[in-house]
Amino acid sequence: MNPLRAFPQIQNLITDESLKKYPFYLKAYFSKIVVADFKKNFQGRIDKKTLLMHIKKELENFMHKDLQSVINATGVIIHTNLGRSVIDENLYESCKKSICSYSNLEFNLQNGKRGSRYTSLLDKLKILFECEDALIVNNNAAAVFLVLNSLAFNKEVISSRGELVEIGGGFRMPEVIKAAGVRLCEVGTSNKTHLRDYENALNENSILILKTHRSNFSIQGFHSEVSIENLGILAQKNRLISYYDLGSGWCENLNEKLTKNEPQVKKILKHCDILSFSADKLFGSVQAGIILGKKQFIEKLRQNQLLRMLRVDKLTLAFLNETTRAYLEKNYDKITTLRLLNDKLSHIEDKALKVQKNIKFKSLLKTSKSLVGGGSMPDKNLESVVLCFEGNALILQKKFREKNIIGRIEKDSFVLDFRSIRENELDTLILKINELDL
Ligand SMILES: *Cc1c(COP(=O)(O)O)cnc(C)c1O
Repeated sequence: MNPLRAFPQIQNLITDESLKKYPFYLKAYFSKIVVADFKKNFQGRIDKKTLLMHIKKELENFMHKDLQSVINATGVIIHTNLGRSVIDENLYESCKKSICSYSNLEFNLQNGKRGSRYTSLLDKLKILFECEDALIVNNNAAAVFLVLNSLAFNKEVISSRGELVEIGGGFRMPEVIKAAGVRLCEVGTSNKTHLRDYENALNENSILILKTHRSNFSIQGFHSEVSIENLGILAQKNRLISYYDLGSGWCENLNEKLTKNEPQVKKILKHCDILSFSADKLFGSVQAGIILGKKQFIEKLRQNQLLRMLRVDKLTLAFLNETTRAYLEKNYDKITTLRLLNDKLSHIEDKALKVQKNIKFKSLLKTSKSLVGGGSMPDKNLESVVLCFEGNALILQKKFREKNIIGRIEKDSFVLDFRSIRENELDTLILKINELDL
């Protein structure tokens, strides 16, 4: 007899009582995979119980990969791997109504004709940033691509070598420039670029001067770059376009320590024709690219067929709209990223104390420093308070992680940093820690 005959039928596995709680499609998928795997490595008779056990394990693994909430105790506020900016629950509530019903997304309620999905948000952005025009795309990477493709196709863009960065996820400035159909003219060296380097590079093919914010690393020591003020003047003198890819970029109400030497969007706009930044970094909203600047250039972006491919969904628009409204109304508490960045040390300590008092394990309260993150302000850190746990740091880190609590290791100790932990997570955090077996 064919030994493979000894295998139970897939149907027989799927309908087994022990897999009752799992969805049919998932059971079928993993049963087939497990059976095929056993057949390939067949050694003797396999009983149904063993197979079921393996299928169940696969199913549990799969379910665990679902997007789920975690507690960010790394101290890094804009943590790219943990979803960058968090949407405040009250802000979410304000969006719910327009998301969970039909809306005037592309409908003019006054005249009953087709309207533009962006109008109301763009008006708010123009007021907030005091600029002529604005545009929204999927993310800032898309913004960079659209700007270059619309304004510099088949022409030459001048950029400093020191700013041809890779920003994570394999997004490399030189590749993006090339992919947009634009020729790159690199000037300066990786640590120093002077205004004369730009001047010397000008030729009849030049069309745009690009400045990129070195957002995820900092250069210390023997270094110089040309300010956007000077690049803006140079561009204007030579009838070129000046574009600043800000990456992050802060808007308002950020504590002084962080904003020192950091470009503020509104100020930069006075010196360049066009700029772009991510909406889910320091701006504190959802994933999107915000493009601001002179009307004549943004209008060109709008005419690019690509825009349709980069357009955002009504969910994104609803969230961006509420975040922008919160800025306009100076309701900064509705912007989680700002709230955490501006949080006072005494309040962070209160949060840590509450947890320390209510958990069954011993911990040490210490002051420490946390990072802004998200490719923002790599050379700046913020005072914070951590709870430090005794024991093997790597093992502790893993045990906490299994409870969806992501901490960090500091000087060989496992710590929870309370700067990035929100007030309304404390009870859950206490509950989860007390479930641990350390
Ligand atoms: C983050 C960043 C980008 C990409 O923005 P996404 O919104 O992640 O697509 C581009 N340029 C710079 C300088 C950045 O910091």
